[in-house]
Amino acid sequence: MHDLLIRGGDVHDGLGNPSRPADVAIDGDRIAAVGQDLGDARRVVRADGLIVAPGFIDPHAHSDVVPPMDDPQPFKLLQGCTTEIVGTCGLSFAPLSEDSAAEARLSFGDLAAGATIEPATFAEYLARVEAAGPTNHITALVGHNTLRLTANGTEVELADGALDKMRRLAAEAFAAGATGLSTGLIYIPGTYSDRDEVVALAEIAHRFDRPYTSHMRDEGPALEEALDEAIDIGRRARVRVQISHCKAAGSASHGKGRVLLDKLHAARLDGVDIRGDQYPYLAGGTFLNALFPAEAREGGIAAFQNRLRDAAEVERLRARALEAVDETSGLWGQTTPDGVLVTRHHDPVVTGRTLAQIAGDRDPWLVACELVERDPAAMMVVTIMSEEDVRTIMSDPLIGVGSDNGIPEGLDHPRTWGCFPRFLGRYVRELGVVDWSEAIRKMTSATADQFRLTGRGWLGPGAIADVTAFDPTTVGHDGTYEVPDVTPTGVPYVVLAGALVVDGGVFTGERLGRVIRAGSV
Ligand SMILES: [Zn+2]
Repeated sequence: MHDLLIRGGDVHDGLGNPSRPADVAIDGDRIAAVGQDLGDARRVVRADGLIVAPGFIDPHAHSDVVPPMDDPQPFKLLQGCTTEIVGTCGLSFAPLSEDSAAEARLSFGDLAAGATIEPATFAEYLARVEAAGPTNHITALVGHNTLRLTANGTEVELADGALDKMRRLAAEAFAAGATGLSTGLIYIPGTYSDRDEVVALAEIAHRFDRPYTSHMRDEGPALEEALDEAIDIGRRARVRVQISHCKAAGSASHGKGRVLLDKLHAARLDGVDIRGDQYPYLAGGTFLNALFPAEAREGGIAAFQNRLRDAAEVERLRARALEAVDETSGLWGQTTPDGVLVTRHHDPVVTGRTLAQIAGDRDPWLVACELVERDPAAMMVVTIMSEEDVRTIMSDPLIGVGSDNGIPEGLDHPRTWGCFPRFLGRYVRELGVVDWSEAIRKMTSATADQFRLTGRGWLGPGAIADVTAFDPTTVGHDGTYEVPDVTPTGVPYVVLAGALVVDGGVFTGERLGRVIRAGSV
């Protein structure tokens, strides 16, 4: 007698092999068998017409402080996603000291889901997530920005001993189970680092066999140089590299999707195990302050706000943002005021409106300065990609699917609620960019391999029983930038470590997610 039997589906193993009609038997938290005539079970789920696949793994999540939220948050489970990797873009919520926690409250407050950001070692952070009871499995990277904030504050130059301290903190985090090292080289204070600094930290990742993930220094005008830097870091530190949210950003760079892929393939021939992830949308989502040149943010949030109150400085920054679009000029010169939708701001009157709408007859640059001066952690959804590049990048086997989600409330980017079903519905069923087997591999084993998530990302006897059953004829997401928080369609069953947590398309309400510490299952 098995605990659970998923009967009659079309089973994909997650490794990219052709599917086969089979039943899936589950005992405890493991897959017991895949095949025909597997005997009885305490619960049988009919999966006729459904694709049965390993639970999707999100290599790029910002759900770091979702677990302590009052209500369980099934926004990933309802997409068929059972595991999230957080701590991405250099922004982890540990290790934090009293001082760096205070700065983190100012600079990445809107990723905090209303939770107070507390000082914590990496081990303490993971223990807190575990105690809170995550709704899906969570594993966490340690972020370069966080390490630097804690070791060196928001100063541009590293103080004596600061790099050694960062290396020590990184080693502590890896020992506590951090899955890898992440950078966000457009954010403060990571943007002040040189390549050697990142190599010095990636060397610690190498010691623990953990990968390096990069939100690169640039994704548009200097995409080539930014990729060269990430590849060089991988080569010098001998670490696996994951390029986060692959794209060719900004109108001047459209068409560079091919360039990105060529660089990845060339680097692999040269011995660097590099891959990437991507979300299936034309708009990104980030801090509103990413519109500004990097130099505007030097010295921390208070210094940034002071500059935005100084009319001469505001004009100087405008000129800097427009004179030459490069990797430090910010996103202002790469989009338009109607391509910027303010999604989070202390002032509710401006949220849900584009910069063009908010500005009306006023100068949109001055309005952007005002908005950021009033709320430096405000967020935006910003249109920066071309459809052709999205499809070109998606079609490559080196690229997986990662949501880059925010907090599942308010007006967040629709990828938060719909990344995986949108990929399956629009890009696989409707457009045929890749077939089902390859699509599932991109969301499962491709990520599990890169991050060494043992026992996950494939479906076979002995694997952890994280399973998704979806309807290939209806899977999708109808969320829009204006109304994003829509429940996906066509994902009736999700099993999390053997427990049916989405049953008939409805979340059962249980918080059964586990904290995955690197090196343990
Ligand atoms: Zn990022």
